[in-house]
Amino acid sequence: MNLILLGPPGAGKGTQAKRLEQRHGIAQISTGDMLRAEVKAGTEIGQQAKAVMESGQLVSDELIIAMLESRIQQPDAARGFILDGFPRTVPQAEALDVMLDRAGMRIDVVIELKVDDAALVDRIAGRFTCGKCGAGYHDSFQKPHVAGTCDVCGNHEFIRRADDRRETVAARLEAYHTQTAPILPHYRAGGRLVTLDGMADVDGVSQEIEAVLARVSAKISR
Ligand code: AMP
Repeated sequence: MNLILLGPPGAGKGTQAKRLEQRHGIAQISTGDMLRAEVKAGTEIGQQAKAVMESGQLVSDELIIAMLESRIQQPDAARGFILDGFPRTVPQAEALDVMLDRAGMRIDVVIELKVDDAALVDRIAGRFTCGKCGAGYHDSFQKPHVAGTCDVCGNHEFIRRADDRRETVAARLEAYHTQTAPILPHYRAGGRLVTLDGMADVDGVSQEIEAVLARVSAKISR
């Protein structure tokens, strides 16, 4: 099963994608994570992307499309994948159709997580992750049980994303509404778009996603 998780920054795409990866053994492909790894490694792509990411703007379609195309050709993607943060523009959505067509693959379902902008700023500005295992936390909604210690691996170092500052979040939301939301009609017209309430709690959203996937796989196997 191949799916796309769509929604503004902070809608919970990353959290849900990780759960799906664990539950179904399909690969989470996050273009944001891939770019952050390039920035950390100091590669040429990373150097090109760093300032753009920190300003909350989108990295060029050309760079992202090339990066994504080589990623979906990796062996783990053959079992299925969850696209998290891609496509983000109409040209990216069109390029995805072409590359999947060429590879004899398809997107089975597109799940949109709908969330209020006002709630997003608070969700994003307080989030942080464990520097070792990547477990996600939040200053108000999900603190570690013991302050300063990761619940999962016991590590004491945490990371806050440079683009999760309040000032940058507004630019990221604007990029979502002007550049990403226009891809929704493309998937709606193809009958593949399902919209869920991303304001529900994490477990509630997971249950809704599982119900959607069960319906879609029943349809595929018919
Ligand atoms: P994310 O982790 O998905 O919120 O992505 C973090 C940042 O990486 C975004 O604000 C963009 O600057 C960049 N980025 C990630 N995915 C894409 C994409 N598909 N197209 C353009 N820029 C992207």
